[in-house]
Parts: sequence; structure tokens; C-alpha cells
Amino acid sequence: MDLKITQAALPGRFGYWDIGIVGDRIVEIAPTIAAPATTVLNANQKLVIPGLVDAHFHLDKAHLLDRCHGVEGTFVEAMRETLKAKNEFTIADIQTRAKRTIERAIGFGVTAMRSHVEVDSVTKLTGMQALMPLRQAYQWGMTLQLAVFAQEGITNQPGTLDLLRQAMHLGGDVIGSAPYVDPDPERNIRIVFDIAQEFDCDIDFHLDFLEDELPLSLPFVIQETCRRGWQGRVCLGHMTKLAAFSPAELSAIAPAILEAGISILALPASDIYMMSRNDTHNVRRGVAPIHHLAEMGVNVGLAVNNVQNLFTPFGDGDVLKICTLLAQVLQLGTTASHELCLEMATNRAAQAIGLPNHGLAPGRSADLVILTVETVTDAIGAAPSDRTVIKNGRIVAQSKLQQELFQ
Ligand SMILES: [Zn+2]
Repeated sequence: MDLKITQAALPGRFGYWDIGIVGDRIVEIAPTIAAPATTVLNANQKLVIPGLVDAHFHLDKAHLLDRCHGVEGTFVEAMRETLKAKNEFTIADIQTRAKRTIERAIGFGVTAMRSHVEVDSVTKLTGMQALMPLRQAYQWGMTLQLAVFAQEGITNQPGTLDLLRQAMHLGGDVIGSAPYVDPDPERNIRIVFDIAQEFDCDIDFHLDFLEDELPLSLPFVIQETCRRGWQGRVCLGHMTKLAAFSPAELSAIAPAILEAGISILALPASDIYMMSRNDTHNVRRGVAPIHHLAEMGVNVGLAVNNVQNLFTPFGDGDVLKICTLLAQVLQLGTTASHELCLEMATNRAAQAIGLPNHGLAPGRSADLVILTVETVTDAIGAAPSDRTVIKNGRIVAQSKLQQELFQ
């Protein structure tokens, strides 16, 4: 045995457990594992969780506040000013910001990430050219998926379709778009499904965002998913329009989402900030009710989305802090709901982006985080900074808060 973690508290289980790891796999979880190991890590009855999964992030747009200055704080301004900034993007600039973000994320225990990569007539393939080498270079600490992403629309942007296909040829893992910025959302969605079929890849839409009068795109995406046999391969981010659904409306559409095997991700840090900007008081939260969808059997998750840009001028890329935020916003206070939140940040997020080997079970990837708290409620309550991160059976990061008090 290569690595043995002893005396670990585990989410949803009583008692303390040993975790045996051979190579990059968990081989055994038992109250005591007698077999010797090359390295033994004593968890000291602290919580061990599966690696955090950031299922929806934008590496190419991270850390732009030094050059994008917000005045209005609206989605329109964020789009306009970020597009201006995109004119100046170079491979080196994207890599500098992305490396900083990836390295911090690995330190937090994010062992897998899906990053959207903007491809359009302004940035062309610069984002892909910048991030593809990093996908390779950071394999030791993080599984990075690159989702080729049409942020500015497709049918309204001559040349974008061709660039999207070129980006997929270059090595995109996933294809996606934001149909709500396209004047013809249904054609936009059909084009993305066409590309997915051509390259046999999964799909990731930014969908049903903003509180405009546009009809919901979700039914059309469900229909196309089933028509094209893409069940289990479509992930939807934001879905903030679902926040306005009554329980009866949500119950009415949930079986179709489940049938299509579509996963839904809430992006609370961005959604709370961008939504309901015209509310003058008693401001609506605008976060998809993923806890209710989970009760109805839909696979749901949470993700960071953006850090330090005009879409989300906050954050550091720590998925566990987003867990805390989601629990607060959706008013989740019970032990069971905290365990659900942690699932949404780990195993359910992994399922959403097609990583079936994630999780605390024999045979799964040895991607783990040892925290310095005892329970899931403590983990979500305080997002402790002391963490030991294991990726593919190897310790890849260790963080310790240094604090001194001077009386
Ligand atoms: Zn996004």
C-alpha cells in the first residue's frame, strides 16, 4: 500500500476510518487497515472529504479588476467592459492570471475543474492556446477540463461557428454557449448540439440567466438532449430563472430534467451579485433552488464561476466557501442539508462534468482533502483554511493558517 490515512472522520458515516491507497486509487476503507503503507497520514479524527470540484469556472476572465472598473454594477456593463479587456488578452496574460488561480485552487483542495474558454472573433483561439498547456502542466494537482465557450453569441457573430469548431479540433473537452445573449437562442442551442455530435463531447450551457422577459430555454434544451440521445451529457449553469418558480412549477418540470439526465449548477457568488439589480428593496436572491431539485432526484451542484472580475468582484476560488454561501442563501441549516451541500461541491459536481471515478469509495480516484474540523457542519460553517490535499494518491498541497496573538 502506498498511502494510508488513519483515524479519519468521513461525511455521512459514524466512527473513524482508515483509507488505503495504491497508486492513484482508493483500494480500501475500513475501521482498521492492518496492511503496512509507505506513507501513513494520521487524520487525528478530523474530517476527510473527496476532492473539491469546481464544475464551472472562467480561468481566462479571472482577476480582471485591475483593468475593468465597474461603475453601474450591471450585467450589461460587465459584458461591455470585459469585451474591451478581451481585446488586450494575450497568451502570457491569460496564463499569468490562470496559473495564480489554479495554484490557489489546488491549495484549497480543488482537485478537478471545468473552465470555460471564450472563443469568438475578438479573442479567437488565444484562450485555448493559453490554457491547453496549463491543462497538461497542472495534471499533478488538478484535472482540468476546457469547455469551448461562445460568450458573445453565435448566430450574431460571423466567424464564431468556425472558430468553435477549430477550438474543438485543437483539443476542447466540452462545447458550450450562452444562448441568452444570442438573438436566436434556439438556433444557438442547435448549433452547439451539432458540434457536440460532431466531436462526441459533452455540452455545457450558461442558461436561463437574468430576469428578462425571454421565455425559458430549458424545455428546448431538454427536448434536444433527448432527441439527440445526449442524456447524461448536458450541464447547465446559473438557471436563475428557476428561482422564480413556485413549488408546483418546479415539480412540473423536474421529471423532464431528470429524464434527460441534465445536471444543474448554481453559481451563487455571481448569481446573487448580478441578479435583481432593479429591485429597490427586499432584493430577490436569484439562486436556482437546487436543494429542491435534489429532492426531486435531479443531479445538482455548485461552483465558483468567477473571481475578481465585473461579473463577480469577489472570491478566491475556494469551493468550500461557496458551499458556505449556498447554505446561507438557501437557508440550509440541518446536518443532512450540509452533507447535501458538500456533495454538491464534490461528488455531484463531479457527476455533472462527467468524472465518474470521484468519491470516497474503493476503486475511486485518490483525490482527497483532510480538513482540521470534525464534522461537515463545521467544514461548511467555517471553511477552515488548514487543509492537506491529495491528488492521485500524492500529497500535493498543505496549508496552515499562521496566527499570533499579542496581549
Ligand atoms: Zn460562467
